[in-house]
Amino acid sequence: MKFDDLGLSAELLRAVAEQGYTVPTPVQVQAIPAVLADRDLMAGAQTGTGKTAAFTLPLLQNLMRATHGGRRRVRALVLTPTRELAAQVGESVRTYGKHLPLRSAEIFGGVNINPQIKALRNGVDILVATPGRLLDHVEQRTADLSAVEILVLDEADRMLDMGFLPAIERVLKALPSARQTLLFSATFPDPIRKLARRLQVDPVVVEVARANAPADAVSHNAYFVDQGRKRELLSYLIGSQNWQQVLVFTRTKHGANRLSEQLCRDGIAADAIHGNKSQGARTRALEGFKRQKVRVLVATDIAARGLDIDELPHVVNYELPHVAEDYVHRIGRTGRAGREGAALSLVCADERGALEAIKRLMKVEITTATVPGYEPTQSASANPTRRPGGGAGKPAHARRDHSRRDQPQVRSHGPRPTRGGSGRKRVAR
Ligand code: AMP
Repeated sequence: MKFDDLGLSAELLRAVAEQGYTVPTPVQVQAIPAVLADRDLMAGAQTGTGKTAAFTLPLLQNLMRATHGGRRRVRALVLTPTRELAAQVGESVRTYGKHLPLRSAEIFGGVNINPQIKALRNGVDILVATPGRLLDHVEQRTADLSAVEILVLDEADRMLDMGFLPAIERVLKALPSARQTLLFSATFPDPIRKLARRLQVDPVVVEVARANAPADAVSHNAYFVDQGRKRELLSYLIGSQNWQQVLVFTRTKHGANRLSEQLCRDGIAADAIHGNKSQGARTRALEGFKRQKVRVLVATDIAARGLDIDELPHVVNYELPHVAEDYVHRIGRTGRAGREGAALSLVCADERGALEAIKRLMKVEITTATVPGYEPTQSASANPTRRPGGGAGKPAHARRDHSRRDQPQVRSHGPRPTRGGSGRKRVAR
């Protein structure tokens, strides 16, 4: 299947070609013709599948079919859970629509509202917004949504997780009921299905990856390690395996700050991104990471939602997520658009249950191992190994064999204080 076969206009095909895309992704193949045929759409597609182009391209084309004279009014509305995702979708709208005379704007909280009011007053065709700030505009009557023809709910599951349902409900009241509604979600829990039933008429259902399943090109590994030695192990892995761009997840904002400071003290350029940081600081951290000035970006789940970072080879769960489904969202950052990626979880004794829950949810194999020199002392593993001397010494040299990404090898080289045979992976479970 080629982009030319999907029914897209010459202007859009040109923009796609300029992006260097040669073949449409599976979600694009299925979604684009359905949206062009004015159908409602319910798509099970997570970040990394090409979902943004899957709705943006046909949305732009549908808006171009009827050109309205006079003042521009908001005719397409895309709701996203986070500011970062809104900014990224807005950028995609501009990229794919660059040969079309359509105007777009992003609306999200945490920044001065006045430039947004000005942009809205000047007239936009496409609005990309987070629900909370958009509701402020609707209530202040600075956004008029009465001419919306296409509504997109992007990462709908996350919007509901973040408690945006009441804001979404109120925004919906400001929309005409006759419209096209596209819903994208990585997972389909009951509240999403209920919302879809209310908002959509006979939707085309597109499922590109099994719900609750991560992208195929990602290998999953977990290293068992004591909580107190995770930071040391992380520094060691980054250094010894020469990882250049690593996204690390922590559970808390405080934990993200502390870890990034500690990594900096270890000589590894790191920054943190979380909800307590200003929008400017978040954007700077993300830019530094994308440009590879910062080697490690430490993030909380909410801040990292929807970050579009090309070719991110390593995602590390410094702590496992509270909710097993967040694992899927976290590792959606790696293995994108067919590239390979590695998801690594550092798992302490208290997290073994959470690891099992993730394995059950995703139905994928997570290879578990210990790194020589970092064997857990507080172990719930089947065959625990103890570090002689209480762990004060330097870690033994260990590295992963990059030739076999699907079968990570944790090896030892040279003298080291461990038992159980050198050069062999020790799988704890
Ligand atoms: P998304 O799932 O929308 O976050 O997209 C993931 C990444 O895939 C983005 O970096 C897009 O630029 C890229 N992408 C989208 N469509 C294609 C395509 N047809 N071919 C190659 N890359 C694509």
